[in-house]
Amino acid sequence: MQGSSIQFPTPSSGSALLDPFGRAITYLRVSVTDRCDFRCVYCMSEDMSFLPKRDLLSLEELDRVCTAFIDQGVRKLRITGGEPLVRRDIMSLFSSLSRHLESGALDELTVTTNGSQLARFAEELAACGVKRVNVSIDTLDPDKFHQITRWGNLSKVLQGLDAAQKAGLKVKINAVALKGVNEHEIESLMHWAHGRGMDLTLIEVMPLGEIDGLRVDQYLPLSTVRERLETRYTLHDLPDRTGGPARYVKVAETGGRLGFITPLTHNFCESCNRVRLTCTGQLFMCLGQEDAADLRAPLRASEDNALLTQAIADAIARKPKGHDFIIDRDHARPAVGRHMSMTGG
Ligand code: SAM
Repeated sequence: MQGSSIQFPTPSSGSALLDPFGRAITYLRVSVTDRCDFRCVYCMSEDMSFLPKRDLLSLEELDRVCTAFIDQGVRKLRITGGEPLVRRDIMSLFSSLSRHLESGALDELTVTTNGSQLARFAEELAACGVKRVNVSIDTLDPDKFHQITRWGNLSKVLQGLDAAQKAGLKVKINAVALKGVNEHEIESLMHWAHGRGMDLTLIEVMPLGEIDGLRVDQYLPLSTVRERLETRYTLHDLPDRTGGPARYVKVAETGGRLGFITPLTHNFCESCNRVRLTCTGQLFMCLGQEDAADLRAPLRASEDNALLTQAIADAIARKPKGHDFIIDRDHARPAVGRHMSMTGG
């Protein structure tokens, strides 16, 4: 399929944007803010400087871009950040986007959060048609949690989880595997998550943005984690890919699902169906590459969506095949300069 051209959807065909490698782009991740109320050690430095608020797309503009993508075949939206639930009035964006769920144009509206604000917003999210949330928790030890997040409070996050489950949201836990930090807690995290009916997905540290320490000191290959787990548990590979980079296994002993996101030990690009919008309207076609398309200028240039639609098509036409993340002592610099909080995790 290499070199195939972009196809524009007709309203009734449900056709999708195709990239040069024939991958249909059906999933948009939107970072609505680069700010966060945590400072996770692998994600940010402690004294981050954030974008001036005037550079951000307004909530109305974010709705307009999302809608333009949905018109071109995107079926799944994930709102992320930074911490999406700290953006002022963010529920109005969920509320306005929910019309696409009601119309059937969108299959899923979902959110990735650190959980700090979930107790406040879980019910409203559910009322907006959100069915699933990803909550990032790397440890259940309150002191370690504070060390990793620098500013986070585990009990507040756990209250948020309770509220989410009470509101009927399906919760998936994301945990970054960190050498010497939570590596011996992975089994207990798994038992806890599965015991509450939640999937657990483990993530390898990715070399995104400058942080205070060295990534090679944090990096724990998930191949090692899996080997260790296999000495004590029976892991059955599952075919389901949920359209994402995670590979899942079913753990016979707990009955739960465990996911592995392994950008370093197993490149997941071949099935990539996604692009990422930053809070300033930059569209990244690949998490691990620097190339981005500016959608803010065409968005602001006219009230009509023609320029925006064309800019989206042009961007998808240059989506790269993939990335090559490497973490070792010879590659001490991040693969890309921006933090995950900017592109959206
Ligand atoms: N604040 C929200 C949260 O905590 O989930 C959403 C944004 S956060 C950037 C999304 C996910 O990316 C979190 O699970 C976080 O742990 C993960 N993350 C951040 N930086 C990372 C990195 N360098 N490598 C791997 N995962 C990272």
